[in-house]
Amino acid sequence: MQRNPYIEGVTFRFAFSSLINILLLLLFLFIFQLTTLFLNAQTDSFYLLKPDRVFDGEQMHENWIVLIKGNKIEAAGSMNFKLPSNTRIIELKGTTLLPGLIEGHSHFFLHPYNEVSWNDQVLKESRAERTARAVNHAKATLMAGFTTVRDLGTEGAMYDDAGLKRAIEKGVIPGPRMIVATRAIVAKGTYAPRSENADIDLPQGAEEVAGLDELSKTVRSQMSKGADVIKVYADYRYGPNEETRPAFTEKEWNIIMTIAKNGGRKVVAHAMAPEAMKMAAMAGVSTIEHGDEGTDEVFKLMKEKGVAFCATLAAGDAILQYKGWKKGVDPEPADIIEKKKSFQLALRNGVTICMGGDVGVYTHGDNAREMELMVEYGMKPLDVLRSATSVNADVFGYADKIGRLKKGLWADVIAVENDPSREIKAIRATRFIMKDGKIYLDSKQP
Ligand SMILES: [Zn+2]
Repeated sequence: MQRNPYIEGVTFRFAFSSLINILLLLLFLFIFQLTTLFLNAQTDSFYLLKPDRVFDGEQMHENWIVLIKGNKIEAAGSMNFKLPSNTRIIELKGTTLLPGLIEGHSHFFLHPYNEVSWNDQVLKESRAERTARAVNHAKATLMAGFTTVRDLGTEGAMYDDAGLKRAIEKGVIPGPRMIVATRAIVAKGTYAPRSENADIDLPQGAEEVAGLDELSKTVRSQMSKGADVIKVYADYRYGPNEETRPAFTEKEWNIIMTIAKNGGRKVVAHAMAPEAMKMAAMAGVSTIEHGDEGTDEVFKLMKEKGVAFCATLAAGDAILQYKGWKKGVDPEPADIIEKKKSFQLALRNGVTICMGGDVGVYTHGDNAREMELMVEYGMKPLDVLRSATSVNADVFGYADKIGRLKKGLWADVIAVENDPSREIKAIRATRFIMKDGKIYLDSKQP
């Protein structure tokens, strides 16, 4: 076969240029790798927080510092190491650093009842107005140092809490992380607002169900529309001025628990009286809310079943003052005496105590009110700090994300003046607030 010098030349040139191309490509990849490394080091912001002391969610530590990388906690402790060159050092002299606080029981779609009654909020305020208010409430809560809320029901505003949560996640508005319940579940005819006219069915503050079919449909639809947790009104009054009675049967509880468990959701029970508290605890709910009439027997059962108690002390305290009680001047009303007794019974029985005040009944951003009352009713300030951080995170199922200052958790960190483990009211004096690595407050020493 005759050799073709032309073709040979082309082949050679082609082989040569391929080699050059491969070398160029390798060089390019090398430079790209270096640049990416460099850029990563530049864009991952490091913050070193230097307070007087650190509450890590469990204990108070002196001489600790906390290093933040991006939106995660990189390290917390008494560290001695070389800092990344692009670390911004934030001096927080005179402060205590804590994990972002967790409100265990809020209602962003309610505002204080002394402004507008609950009934009128549910019946007369437009959904747009309620959402506009909720936007303000979310901001006020974050700026009080509460970087997460468990919002337990929109009280008639449908699934708007799920929408609000998404808006916060997208960065449309500032606000805390939200664990939402959406509409919550009540047994038909037990909730409010009530109509005196049997021919008129008023819109309700929660989703009414009757029968096992409706119940299972409702649990499923609430989960599909964004409920992170299923809230059930375990007892209520069947008529005005009646006693509180259980709303659901044991069979109904089983349905709720089974479906919620399949969906990976915890169940929360509103319960005031011992009978429903017992039923909810036996069913295996994660927390019982309110529990005003809780007895020794009930709290023993809750302890045994690992059910946490969210006492909402501040709601009762606020409502009685709206009704005219002058705290510190008038004698304590019977309801307050009863509430103190049940809270102390829970403490004595070693029940896990969550921090949740039912905020919305009183002003959003005034969340510390519950923490102060927990101390007033007999809890140690350090235990209250634990409740509002690591305990709430554990009980709500978010321990791998929030509630402690340790490596790998989300960078939700606050600093307050002085030492709230000595005087709980110090928790109100926020000086630094960071959520998800973003700084929302960094004020200088007063
Ligand atoms: Zn509530």
